[in-house]
Formats: sequence, C-alpha cells, structure tokens
Amino acid sequence: MIVIINDKCDFCGACVAVCPVDAIELAEARIGIIQPRCIDCELCVWVCPVETLKHIEAEEACAATTIA
Ligand code: SF4
Ligand code: SF4
Repeated sequence: MIVIINDKCDFCGACVAVCPVDAIELAEARIGIIQPRCIDCELCVWVCPVETLKHIEAEEACAATTIA
C-alpha cells in the first residue's frame, strides 16, 4: 500500500497523472490514496519530486498502527 509520509506535498498533480487506476485524489490542497483501487505499481512514488509517497507492506502498516 501507498502511504503519505510527510507534509512536503506541493499538490503538483504528478502522482495523480501517472496513476493507472485513478487511486489518488487531489482536491482542495489535500491528497489522498484510495487504497482499494491501488495496485502497488509504485509509479507515484517514483514520480513525486518531494518524496512524499512511500510503498509499505500491509503488515508494516498494521504494525505501525498497533500499540505494543
Ligand atoms: S502505487 Fe500505482 S496504483 Fe497505487 S496509487 Fe501509486 S500510481 Fe496509483
Ligand atoms: S507527486 Fe508528490 S508533490 Fe506532487 S501531488 Fe503527488 S504527492 Fe504531492
């Protein structure tokens, strides 16, 4: 899955343009990933000029949100 890891996004729209399945929403200076649509191609990660997007495994996401 793709996650947003910082607040450097300048809403350039490059990730939206490159996503083959329209899984990224950009509206009113806010960006969001529509996870059920994402096919983990990582094109958005590579195209982002400010390294705002990161691909992580689902298990990693669960671990990050679980309190030990
Ligand atoms: S990883 Fe691919 S499918 Fe998923 S949001 Fe990025 S460009 Fe779209
Ligand atoms: S490519 Fe990066 S900076 Fe541009 S809109 Fe997407 S997340 Fe934001």
